[in-house]
Amino acid sequence: MPRCRFCGKKSELFLRYARLPLCKKCFIAYYQRKVREALEKFNIEKDATIAVALSAGKDSVALLHSLSALREVKAIHIALGIEGHSDKLLESCKKLCKDLNIELILFDLKKELGISASDFRKINKKVCSVCGTVKRYLLNKIAWENSIDYVATGHNADDTASAILRNFLTGNIALLARIEFFSPKDEKFKLVGKIKPLYRTLEFENKMYCDILELPYVAEQCPLAKRAMQNEVKALIDSLEKRMPEIKLRIITNYFKMKPLFEEYAKKERKVEFKLCKQCGYATVSDKCKFCKTIEKLQKVRNKTKSF
Ligand code: AMP
Ligand code: ZN
Repeated sequence: MPRCRFCGKKSELFLRYARLPLCKKCFIAYYQRKVREALEKFNIEKDATIAVALSAGKDSVALLHSLSALREVKAIHIALGIEGHSDKLLESCKKLCKDLNIELILFDLKKELGISASDFRKINKKVCSVCGTVKRYLLNKIAWENSIDYVATGHNADDTASAILRNFLTGNIALLARIEFFSPKDEKFKLVGKIKPLYRTLEFENKMYCDILELPYVAEQCPLAKRAMQNEVKALIDSLEKRMPEIKLRIITNYFKMKPLFEEYAKKERKVEFKLCKQCGYATVSDKCKFCKTIEKLQKVRNKTKSF
């Protein structure tokens, strides 16, 4: 076994993409340094309040721990009410935040709005798309109401590389142009800043970080998720990675080089201008926001079912 590149002690792991032998202790420091560098790249002010969108999965758990080693953070968890699944996530989040002494802001979809993610399928076959709309809206609203400046999500380099390739394969240039790792706060439209500090951190590194530090996380996948295309593209990149360990990071680097071209193209297609939703007062591109329309549909379906 070679020596750890940083401290010279016996190495315990090898990061193939960087040809880097490390001991566990130096891996944790290396990981936290990458998170710190991401915050510096995004120019996050030292006194800004950050909340991690905590799902209980390994990515957001590793993000919460590593950020808390650098500065004060809070966590937000949305309980989606999925039978046999959501309770496990909630318990895991509670345990982690208690262990790390971090404030956990909870939002229970069932209690607050009378709906659960199990209802999403009734209005749209693409459950993940409805779930994404609901989560994005609520994370912003909860953060705004709690005077949080930035919401940090656990999107990792595997997610990013597969999203880039997927949109490229389907030719969705508008979505391709909109892949962001940082978006600033916009007071006028009640938008908090959004950051993805793990955008260059690989999924296996997040798992390794949690496992080394014995952080609690839930490995079980969401039982409602059917991400056929996403899974196939991920499998394709995973297979390429065997021969080219740096492929995922290379896709992201190349994306950055081409992003201005996609943005230019998307600008010609449709210009997005924000307004405030007539119903809830948060940002939208039409009169009523996607979230308000979705909740209305869900509540209608629910009431219909009830009266039968
Ligand atoms: P996903 O959309 O499930 O791939 O998750 C991407 C990121 O969104 C995670 O890494 C979390 O930061 C955040 N997230 C997902 N689900 C939740 C949830 N139920 N509550 C809070 N944040 C979440
Ligand atoms: Zn609205």
